[in-house]
Amino acid sequence: MAKTVLITGSTSGIGLATAKLFAAEGYNIGFNGLEPNGAEIAAEVAAEYKVDYLFSSANMLHSEEIKTLVQSTLVKFGKIDVLINNAGIQFVSPVEDFPEEKWNDIININLTAAFIATKAVWPSMKANKFGRILNVASAHGLIASPFKSAYVAAKHGIVGFTKVMALEGGLLGITCNAVCPGYVFTPIVEKQIGAQMELNNMTRQEVIEKIFLKEHAVKEFIPVETIASTILYLCDSPASATITGIAMPLDAGWTAH
Ligand code: NAD
Repeated sequence: MAKTVLITGSTSGIGLATAKLFAAEGYNIGFNGLEPNGAEIAAEVAAEYKVDYLFSSANMLHSEEIKTLVQSTLVKFGKIDVLINNAGIQFVSPVEDFPEEKWNDIININLTAAFIATKAVWPSMKANKFGRILNVASAHGLIASPFKSAYVAAKHGIVGFTKVMALEGGLLGITCNAVCPGYVFTPIVEKQIGAQMELNNMTRQEVIEKIFLKEHAVKEFIPVETIASTILYLCDSPASATITGIAMPLDAGWTAH
C-alpha cells in the first residue's frame, strides 16, 4: 500500500518541490494551495510521477476547511503517513503601521493552521502507531529581522509547537520536526521585494544583496530542492526515525553568526 503525504501550500514554491520528491518515491499526494491553477498543477505532477492524488483549495484561515481537508485525505487514501504544515504568508511593515488584520492572518495561516491540521491527523497516526509531522518554520523561527513582527512571532511559535508534539508523539510512533530555511527564491520572497525597496530606499538588486543574502554565509538563495530533500529525509528515511523535536537550520549559515 502506497504511503500518503498531505502538504499544505503545495501548489507553489517549497511545498510543490516537496510534493514532487514524495511523488518520485511513489507517495499518494494530498495537494493544497490557493494558486488559481492549483488543480492543474496537482494533476500534472501526479501524471508525471504516476501517483494517486487529491487537490483541495482549503483555506488555512478557516479551521473547518482544514479539518475537512484532513478528513477527505483520510477517506480517500485510508491513512496519512506524513503531514507537512507548509502554507505560509509574509507581510513586512514597521510595528506601528502593522495592520492587525495582517497580524491575525499570519498567525492563523503560519501557526494556528498547523495546530488544527496536527490535531485532526493525530488520532489516525496514533491508531497506526506511525506518523511524521514536519513543520516548515524559518530561520525567522530562530532569530529576528526588523519589520517582520507577525512572521517572526508565528515562526518562533511553530518551533515551540514542534517540540511539544515531539514530546507527545515520542511513545506513539509519531515524530515532529521543523526545518528553518533562510532565503529561498519563491513567490513569498518575490512579493517582499517591493516593500523592502520602499522601506529601505533600495533598488531591487540592493534588496537582494544587502537584505536577503546579507546574513547568508554562502551568498546564494537556497534551492527549493535543498529544503525538499531534507524534508524527505526527516519524514521518509528509516535512518531518521529517532530524530524528533528539532528545528533544523537550512539557512546558508545565517544563524551561525
Ligand atoms: P510560496 O508563496 O511559493 O508558497 C506558499 C504556499 O502557501 C502557496 O501554495 C499558497 O497558495 C499557500 N497558501 C498561502 N496562504 C494560504 C491559505 N490561506 N490557505 C491555503 N494555502 C495558502 O512560498 P514558499 O517560499 O514556498 O513558502 C512555503 C513555506 O516556507 C512558508 O511557510 C514560508 O513561511 C516558509 N519559508 C519560506 C522561505 C523563503 O525564503 N521562501 C524561507 C523560510 C521559510
